[in-house]
Amino acid sequence: HKALHTDKDLLKKDQKHFLHPTSNPKQQAKSGASIVLRRGQGIYLEDIEGKRYIDGLSSLWNVNVGHGNKELAQTAFEQMETLAYASSFKGYSNPSAINLSEKLAEIAPNGLNSVFFTSGGSESNDTAFKLSRFYWEQVGKPEKKKIIALERSYHGVTIGAQSATHLPAFHAFSGSHMNDVYHAVPHLTDCERGNKDADHYERSIRGVIEREGKETVAAVIIEPIQGAGGIYVPPAGYLEAVRKLCNEYDIHFIADEVICGFGRTGSMFAVEHWDVVPDFMSVAKGITSGYAQLGGVLIHDKIRKVINDFDGVLAHGFTYSGHAMACAVGLKNIEIIERDGLVDRAKEMGEYFGDRLEELVTKHTSVGLTRGMGLLRSIELFKDSKSFERFDPQDNAAEKLYQHCFDRGLLVRTSGGNGINIIPLAPPLIISQPEIDELIERFSAGITAFE
Ligand code: PLP
Repeated sequence: HKALHTDKDLLKKDQKHFLHPTSNPKQQAKSGASIVLRRGQGIYLEDIEGKRYIDGLSSLWNVNVGHGNKELAQTAFEQMETLAYASSFKGYSNPSAINLSEKLAEIAPNGLNSVFFTSGGSESNDTAFKLSRFYWEQVGKPEKKKIIALERSYHGVTIGAQSATHLPAFHAFSGSHMNDVYHAVPHLTDCERGNKDADHYERSIRGVIEREGKETVAAVIIEPIQGAGGIYVPPAGYLEAVRKLCNEYDIHFIADEVICGFGRTGSMFAVEHWDVVPDFMSVAKGITSGYAQLGGVLIHDKIRKVINDFDGVLAHGFTYSGHAMACAVGLKNIEIIERDGLVDRAKEMGEYFGDRLEELVTKHTSVGLTRGMGLLRSIELFKDSKSFERFDPQDNAAEKLYQHCFDRGLLVRTSGGNGINIIPLAPPLIISQPEIDELIERFSAGITAFE
């Protein structure tokens, strides 16, 4: 225990040398107040001071099997010892990448039988955009280039993904954009306040396509359940209607399952809830439960068939596409999810979790709504939850609640801005009922302190 405490200068070194992603540099430079996490077990994390936290978001919605999994560690060790890495370019391959690609084809919706491996979610979405455009070039429609995404979406931070991402700070950062990306109305708050009309949302996408011209649109990208934007479950019939719309106009449907995939919502992939088969499906995060950096784009057979006819260099690929260790960990991770019944567990525990969150809506005047499926949920805060009156933007209500939760050893996340105050929650799929109770207890205490 003590041995882990020896490096007294960690915070100083962190402040000086480690520029953190998605953080406030001025605050970091001023205070050096990073929380340095040194180990994790199950749903818990522990910092260098020995303080324990419940990891209420599975870190970044990715540690699906929980922390400290020895089987994954052992798998990584054995693969690294045998062959940590080898190229997948040209004619080279490795058994772990091959076996994982076969496994993904087995568990994915019908027709999605091949995969292009990446190192994460942003790369997966950029890859989907490029493969979609490449497909249209191959079938003689090179003018189909435009990408349609939804408002409040989060698809990552590489230039393609950032362009599709609509959350204002990320979309605007450094003004780096790909041309030809347009946004439609998302399946948002309205559906919680009475507008459950799937057509309303479908019409928004249809409107953008008709305005831009269907002969110029390559793909529509959607998070089946919008994640970082605040956990928005689509109204019944919506994703099916978008699928039909894409068929009607000859446009690809890209499902971004980076958060939703691998059991999180109570099915292996979220599109299964609505029986929708996308043309491309981006995955990352839960594919390895965060134990290795890996992502991929699953590709429908009808697209693969056209790609197979291309007699040239498919000039796209990352050094770590098909990384042997990452793929071995991914394969073992999926084996654990299946063997331990974590998909059903996410459904079952998710329902219990949802009920407990509903209780908070009744109990706390500031909690107006709870949304979600499986172990992907959120609550929304209001100044007056009866009339859904929002807090003033300057109040930073969600940030304040975040701090109260942190003080009580519960790590959550905030979403919203502009007076919208959402706390997403997505604990590891291995969470037990008593652990959910403990999470709710800390959360409720945090809300009481906030109020
Ligand atoms: N897509 C979605 C839906 C995400 O939530 C994220 C990350 O949070 C990404 C893509 C980007 O993934 P990465 O950070 O691995 O590039």
